[in-house]
Parts: sequence; C-alpha cells; structure tokens
Amino acid sequence: MSINPVHVIGGGLAGSEAAWQIAKAGVPVVLHEMRPVRGTDAHKTDGLAELVCSNSFRSDDAETNAVGLLHAEMRLAGSLIMSAGDAHQVPAGGALAVDRDGFSDAVTKKIEAHPLITIQREEVPGLPPTEWDQAIIATGPLTAPSLAQSIAEATGADALAFFDAIAPIVHFDTIDMNICWFQSRYDKVGPGGTGKDYINCPMDKEQYLGFVAALLEGQKTEFKQWEGTPYFDGCLPIEVMAERGVETLRYGPMKPMGLTNVHNPSVKAYAVVQLRQDNALGTLYNMVGFQTKLKHAEQVRIFRTIPGLENAEFVRLGGLHRNTYINSPTLLDPSLQLKSRPGLRFAGQITGCEGYVESAAIGLLAGRFAAAERLGQAASRPPPTTAFGALLNHITGGHIVSDDEPGKRSFQPMNVNFGLFPPVEAPRNEGKRLRGKDKTVAKRHAITSRALADCRQWLGLPAQAQAAE
Ligand SMILES: Cc1cc2nc3c(=O)[nH]c(=O)nc-3n(C[C@H](O)[C@H](O)[C@H](O)COP(=O)(O)OP(=O)(O)OC[C@H]3O[C@@H](n4cnc5c(N)ncnc54)[C@H](O)[C@@H]3O)c2cc1C
Repeated sequence: MSINPVHVIGGGLAGSEAAWQIAKAGVPVVLHEMRPVRGTDAHKTDGLAELVCSNSFRSDDAETNAVGLLHAEMRLAGSLIMSAGDAHQVPAGGALAVDRDGFSDAVTKKIEAHPLITIQREEVPGLPPTEWDQAIIATGPLTAPSLAQSIAEATGADALAFFDAIAPIVHFDTIDMNICWFQSRYDKVGPGGTGKDYINCPMDKEQYLGFVAALLEGQKTEFKQWEGTPYFDGCLPIEVMAERGVETLRYGPMKPMGLTNVHNPSVKAYAVVQLRQDNALGTLYNMVGFQTKLKHAEQVRIFRTIPGLENAEFVRLGGLHRNTYINSPTLLDPSLQLKSRPGLRFAGQITGCEGYVESAAIGLLAGRFAAAERLGQAASRPPPTTAFGALLNHITGGHIVSDDEPGKRSFQPMNVNFGLFPPVEAPRNEGKRLRGKDKTVAKRHAITSRALADCRQWLGLPAQAQAAE
C-alpha cells in the first residue's frame, strides 16, 4: 500500500530534522527548500541546515545544563542534526561547536541519499495547498515574505518581528599571539576540547574603560529602526550591554575569571575578549558575545583597539537580523498542529523556540507527530519532565498571558532552560539539607536524571540502555 507523503517546507535545522524523522518512520517526504532559487538575508549557501551565525550548539553537559540535556535526548531519538554535529565537532571547551560547512554538507548528503525523501528546490509562496493534507511549515525566522503574509492572514494573529544579532569572525593568522593566549575558562576540557580552545585578548583597566567609551560613542545603524525591539536577553548587542553600566561587560562576555595570561601570569587582566574556533581548519575565530549593531567601519576601528587584534582581518562583521514567529500558545495544539487547520504543523524557530538545537528539537517532534498520524497511530507526546516536553509545553501552552495587560501579546521566544521543567524536591545529603551552589547542582542532577529516564521510556528504549550509554 502506498503512503502519501508528508510535505515539509523549509530545509533548515527544523525542516531537515523533521524530514529525517518522518522518513525514519517509513513515511515518504517531500522537502521544499527555496535556496538557491531564492535566498534569505542571512543564509550564504544552498546547503540544508545551514548555521547562519555562531557555530555553537552551546553546552554539551547533559547533567547540569538544559541544552546539554536536550542534546542527549535528541541523540536518544536518533536525531540527524545531533549525529552530524557530533561527527563535525570542533574544540570549544564545554560546548559542542561544529565545523559549519562539514555539518551542513553531512546533513544535505544524508537527506539526499534517503530513498523516502525527495527534495524540491522551490519557494512555497503561500499556505500549503489542501491536497497536502499533512504538512509542516519550518521556514524559520527569515520566512519568505509571501508565505509570512499568508500565515498572518490565515491565523489572524500578528507575526511579531524582532532582531537577532551576529558576532564578527576574524582570520586566525591576523591575531597577535604574542599578546593573546589559548585557554578555556577554568581550563575546562568538555567534548572534543583541550582546555585551550579559546583565544583570549587581555585588557587593563584603562584599555577597558576606553573600549567601553568607544562602544558607547561608536556610530550605530539607525536606532529608530530597532526602537521597541524586544531584544532577547541572551543575545544583546555588545553596545547595548555597555549602555547598561560600565561594569556590565566585565560581568558578561568580557569577564576575566578563570583565565591566566601566559605572557604575564602575575598580572590579572581587568577584562578579556574571547574568540572561539569557527571552522575545522582552525583558520577562523568568532568574537564570543560580540553581536553588534555598530556600523561596519566602526566595528573594524573599535575592535582593532582590542589588544592582539590591532591587525585583525574580519571575515564577517556583526549585524542584526529579523525574526518571525507565531503566537503558538494560542494557535497550536499540543502536537504543534494549527488548531484552525488540522494536518498543518509548525516547527522550528517560527514556533517561538530560540536557537539551533531547540529549532531542530521541535522539528524532530513535529516530524514524529506527522509520521504517526500518517500511519494512523496516536501522536505520542514526550513527558513534560523531559527537555523535549518542557520546550513543547512552553510553545503550545506553558506560557501564561498576563492578566495585567489584556490583549497584549506577551509570548516571547525562549531557549530551553530549567525554569521550564516541573520542579523536583531538593535532594538531601545524608538527611541534611543542601544549600547554595550544592543545592542548585543537586537539583539539576535530579531533573536531568529524571528527564533521561522518562525520555528513554517515552522512546521505548530498553531500561538497560541507561546503564550502557
Ligand atoms: C541572523 C540570525 C542569527 C542567528 N544566530 C543564532 C545563533 O548564533 N545560535 C543559535 O542557536 N540560533 C541562532 N539564530 C536563531 C535560530 O536558531 C536559527 O535561525 C535557526 O536556523 C532556526 O532554525 P529553523 O529551522 O527554524 O530555520 P532555518 O534554519 O532558517 O530554516 C528555514 C529554511 O526555510 C527556507 N524557507 C523560508 N521560506 C521558505 C519558503 N516560502 N519556501 C521554501 N523554503 C523557505 C529557508 O531558506 C531556510 O533554509 C539566529 C537567527 C538569525 C535570523
């Protein structure tokens, strides 16, 4: 008996993962990707799952970090994005960072080679035709305008736009290593790292204060354009952080803690700029946390005052980008289906999750749900105690609309975080209450071990897999 395909629109992080999961379940897929026929403001290639900015999937620590836990759950669920990420990782301390081209090539090749997946390089200009009775829209923050307009018309809800920010990338051989040094904060090794994965540029107090002043005075792209922009706190432009107080950067991306200058070990740097490896060859490094809306010429002028970057050549300068997402808690049911049109699902950043890994995770779930439905099975949802479930809940109903501001749309994009999980009892140590950091760490361990056990059960994995993995 032939099975009708599921149509996936958008071959980014979410769409590629969704297509993979559907095909893995034995259901044919048509994946519609508009690149290279039509580009976006941020994508540079025609590869599937292109990473448009940082090359990091963030922490890989599944025991005490929520995104690390999501990595682990995705691996258990046979994620294509995670297997390609693992195969193309580059050293990055406790984080999982990847060679962006190797990663995207690997995803593209796997999808192209799958017998149940057909790729159509075309723009889908409006909502899927009704003949596509099972479809997933995974067109991301840079959804092509005519489709975005159709979505807004069909849902009646305003698509909210704000701006993400990208950080500059520098050629390694233009960094002065007589001034800078390699070291991960606290020498942390992490997956695939060496403890020396970051390049550090030291500043004394005078240099730091001068740098902050330059950021404040530097010419920015027209501020009016971004007025009212609900900046996402985890990704604030560097100059916006500087505006919040002269010490803010020293407690943020420029913190000097856990670092010792090998060229001058007895003098503690007042502030440190860190650069992280951006490609497998180690020829490119990105400036960590330096997303900015400074004008390009100003970026070059100001960033070349950083010790060690006096002669830096920039492969890419920072910038700001649009983001489009729907009001999911109102529009979607718990299986990511548009309430007003069953069979049409949304996945990825357009649902209001935030980040590469979260987008792929929501793609994974949408793919599993669509495949199950096509096969006449019930879509089994992940327990709320898992990272999958916590994120899904946030998107499809976890968010509480404020009574103080009726009518005001308050749903905002969110990374996965421990605040989204059902609470656990604080574990005790030999009957004694834990306090402070010990208590936080113990609680996180309790949440993550519960999550992994529940995730295995949800996926039908044998109990002994827990010990083996
Ligand atoms: C500039 C920018 C920088 C970002 N930086 C980071 C970062 O550093 N780290 C991080 O974790 N997250 C970042 N994000 C957020 C987010 O994680 C990424 O955008 C992520 O790629 C989202 O995955 P996605 O699959 O939802 O969308 P995408 O990966 O963007 O995939 C959507 C795909 O749909 C295609 N498409 C769009 N419209 C159509 C159409 N009508 N028909 C057919 N195809 C279409 C696009 O070409 C694209 O390939 C950034 C976002 C932006 C915009």
